[in-house]
Amino acid sequence: MSGSGAIASPDPAERPEEAKANMAVPKRKISRTRGRKRRSHNAVTPIKLQFCPQCGTAKPSHVICPNCGHYQGRTLVETED
Ligand SMILES: [Zn+2]
Repeated sequence: MSGSGAIASPDPAERPEEAKANMAVPKRKISRTRGRKRRSHNAVTPIKLQFCPQCGTAKPSHVICPNCGHYQGRTLVETED
Protein backbone atom coordinates (compact mmCIF):
# COMPACT_ATOMS: atom_id res chain seq x y z
CA MET A 1 0.00 0.00 0.00
CA SER A 2 1.41 3.36 -0.96
CA GLY A 3 -0.76 5.51 1.25
CA SER A 4 -3.57 6.43 -1.14
CA GLY A 5 -6.55 7.25 0.99
CA ALA A 6 -4.63 6.81 4.20
CA ILE A 7 -4.70 9.73 6.62
CA ALA A 8 -1.16 11.06 6.96
CA SER A 9 0.21 12.11 10.30
CA PRO A 10 0.16 15.92 10.73
CA ASP A 11 3.59 15.92 12.35
CA PRO A 12 6.32 16.04 9.66
CA ALA A 13 8.85 14.62 12.11
CA GLU A 14 7.00 11.30 12.10
CA ARG A 15 7.26 10.97 8.32
CA PRO A 16 10.70 12.25 7.25
CA GLU A 17 10.44 10.64 3.80
CA GLU A 18 7.41 12.79 3.11
CA ALA A 19 8.92 15.96 4.60
CA LYS A 20 11.44 15.99 1.77
CA ALA A 21 8.58 16.12 -0.71
CA ASN A 22 7.42 19.45 0.76
CA MET A 23 10.19 21.32 -1.00
CA ALA A 24 9.16 23.86 -3.61
CA VAL A 25 9.35 22.31 -7.03
CA PRO A 26 9.15 24.33 -10.25
CA LYS A 27 5.85 23.81 -11.97
CA ARG A 28 7.22 24.30 -15.46
CA LYS A 29 10.52 24.10 -17.20
CA ILE A 30 12.21 27.50 -17.57
CA SER A 31 12.74 27.98 -21.27
CA ARG A 32 16.19 28.65 -22.70
CA THR A 33 15.12 32.18 -23.57
CA ARG A 34 13.71 32.95 -20.15
CA GLY A 35 16.76 31.63 -18.31
CA ARG A 36 19.07 33.56 -20.59
CA LYS A 37 17.01 36.73 -20.13
CA ARG A 38 17.31 36.37 -16.36
CA ARG A 39 21.07 35.90 -16.61
CA SER A 40 21.46 38.91 -18.88
CA HIS A 41 21.98 41.05 -15.75
CA ASN A 42 24.49 38.71 -14.12
CA ALA A 43 27.58 39.78 -16.02
CA VAL A 44 30.62 40.61 -13.92
CA THR A 45 32.57 43.67 -15.01
CA PRO A 46 36.35 43.57 -14.67
CA ILE A 47 37.96 45.75 -12.01
CA LYS A 48 39.18 49.04 -13.42
CA LEU A 49 42.86 49.54 -12.63
CA GLN A 50 44.75 52.81 -12.55
CA PHE A 51 48.46 53.39 -12.23
CA CYS A 52 49.93 54.84 -9.07
CA PRO A 53 51.47 58.26 -9.84
CA GLN A 54 54.21 57.57 -7.31
CA CYS A 55 55.47 54.12 -8.31
CA GLY A 56 53.41 53.18 -11.38
CA THR A 57 51.87 50.05 -9.88
CA ALA A 58 48.45 49.13 -11.28
CA LYS A 59 45.85 49.43 -8.52
CA PRO A 60 42.08 49.93 -8.24
CA SER A 61 41.04 53.58 -8.16
CA HIS A 62 40.18 55.16 -4.77
CA VAL A 63 42.48 52.67 -3.05
CA ILE A 64 45.77 53.28 -1.30
CA CYS A 65 48.62 51.91 -3.40
CA PRO A 66 49.52 48.45 -2.08
CA ASN A 67 53.12 48.91 -3.20
CA CYS A 68 54.13 52.32 -1.80
CA GLY A 69 51.16 53.37 0.39
CA HIS A 70 50.61 56.55 -1.62
CA TYR A 71 47.16 58.09 -1.91
CA GLN A 72 45.96 61.56 -2.99
CA GLY A 73 49.39 63.15 -3.09
CA ARG A 74 50.72 61.85 0.20
CA THR A 75 52.01 58.65 1.73
CA LEU A 76 49.43 57.28 4.12
CA VAL A 77 50.89 53.86 4.85
CA GLU A 78 54.59 53.32 5.34
CA THR A 79 55.90 50.22 3.62
CA GLU A 80 59.00 48.17 4.30
CA ASP A 81 61.19 49.56 1.49
ZN1 LIG B 1 52.46 53.32 -5.49
